[in-house]
Amino acid sequence: MLRRRSPLAALASAAGFSLLAAAVIPTAADADALTTRQTTALTTGLTTGPATALITGPASARATFTPGSAGVGDPYFPKAGNGGYDVGHYDLNLRFDPKSRRLSATATITAAATQDLSRFDLDFSGPKIHKVEVNGRKAAYTRKGQELIITPKSGLPSGATFTVEVSYAGKPKAINDEALGLEGWINTKDGAVVLSEPDGARSWFPANDTPRDKATFTFHVTAPVNVTVLANGEPKNPGIVGVRNGYTTVKWEMTQPMATYLAMVAIGKFKVTEGVVNGVPNITAYDPALAKQAKYLHRTTAKAIKWESKVFGAYPFSSTGGIADKLGVAYSLETQGRPVYDGGSEMAGDDLVIVHELAHQWFGDSVGVRSWKDIWLNEGFATYAEWLYEEQHGGSSAQKTFARDYKQKGRFWKVKTGDPGKAELFNGDAIYTRGAMTLHALRKKIGDETFFKLLPAWAEENRHGTVTTQDFVDLAEKLSGQDLDGLFDAWLYHAGKPAL
Ligand SMILES: [Zn+2]
Repeated sequence: MLRRRSPLAALASAAGFSLLAAAVIPTAADADALTTRQTTALTTGLTTGPATALITGPASARATFTPGSAGVGDPYFPKAGNGGYDVGHYDLNLRFDPKSRRLSATATITAAATQDLSRFDLDFSGPKIHKVEVNGRKAAYTRKGQELIITPKSGLPSGATFTVEVSYAGKPKAINDEALGLEGWINTKDGAVVLSEPDGARSWFPANDTPRDKATFTFHVTAPVNVTVLANGEPKNPGIVGVRNGYTTVKWEMTQPMATYLAMVAIGKFKVTEGVVNGVPNITAYDPALAKQAKYLHRTTAKAIKWESKVFGAYPFSSTGGIADKLGVAYSLETQGRPVYDGGSEMAGDDLVIVHELAHQWFGDSVGVRSWKDIWLNEGFATYAEWLYEEQHGGSSAQKTFARDYKQKGRFWKVKTGDPGKAELFNGDAIYTRGAMTLHALRKKIGDETFFKLLPAWAEENRHGTVTTQDFVDLAEKLSGQDLDGLFDAWLYHAGKPAL
């Protein structure tokens, strides 16, 4: 996520913009082919869901079955995520009418029980549910706050795979968190876009809404023929298979594991540009009102992916891109494989914002946090990517940026970078800038050679996994052969300016 707020950040971003605007003038070396067209053609027909297995157990065994927990123990979000199972796949079948803003949906979740389950929870704050089935049989359910509590007809034995189907309809609402802002399902003038960090997924689909439980996703989105649908990953079976009553269905798939907060669907009037970068499709889309930024978004995405692949190692997903829409949320988000930029503000035309969100594809999306307190592993890394990009493209050196920020006083040092508290999760000073400063202090201590081996090693060793800060400290110590506890302790777990 990135939000430009302070006048200082706005200035820096303006400087970065002009810097890169000069650098991205297309050249013959830019192999990223451009073809722009409407993509109502990216459609598909019906599919069948995964096979289900009926699970029953002897009555004597069922007595030992217990409920899964209502959270996974993240102190910042005690109700987020659920215990007792592990999701493998979400198949989201969504039908949306931009005029009435009504969504009617069926979510089919394939999961494996990790304990003998008598009942289990999903996180869901979306519209009215009219049916819940487990393994094809009607299941009892209740709703309590964000918990959807499901009791299957028979217990689910540990290790068994099961499917949950939840059907619901109504008008989904964004979640407005005082500290974190607007997230979840966001209606736009001509459709809707979803941005769910940190816990907005539950506003539009029933989920095990924790970054620890990644899963693959299929999206079947039915929408009027005059709007375009995009999602994470790639469109499947292109070509209009059927138009029924003015609606078409489009299928997109994210085949690499994804945290629920990174799931994204964008519905609306979009112009789509398709190209290829580093051997993967580059699919960018923009609201026609943002036409001036379209080529810029596409080319800068390609340029950033090429540069980041050199510095961070192989790009972790099977496609890339970006979506610029007028959302009014004033932030951009690293939705997996294809970030979303709020073009209603300055975001979509800012090269460093694009570099930031695409750096998250390695750090945040592929290498995900287990607990939200470690958010600096996402934001500190993405911010440091901006510093490195400037350094290697004729702008300020990272050292100069570090030295400028090191002069800051007072509040800037108040919140602990490594455990900021929920309300400070996206604190620009403590998490973004001081997270980047932590990496720069590390770079100075272990030297450029080791540091620039550490970044791709971190991305490679934890590809599509989840991590803790301690994992990063361990790898940095292993590669450098140095004891780094003092450095990380001072930069992450103490308020106040660390000594140099
Ligand atoms: Zn970010």
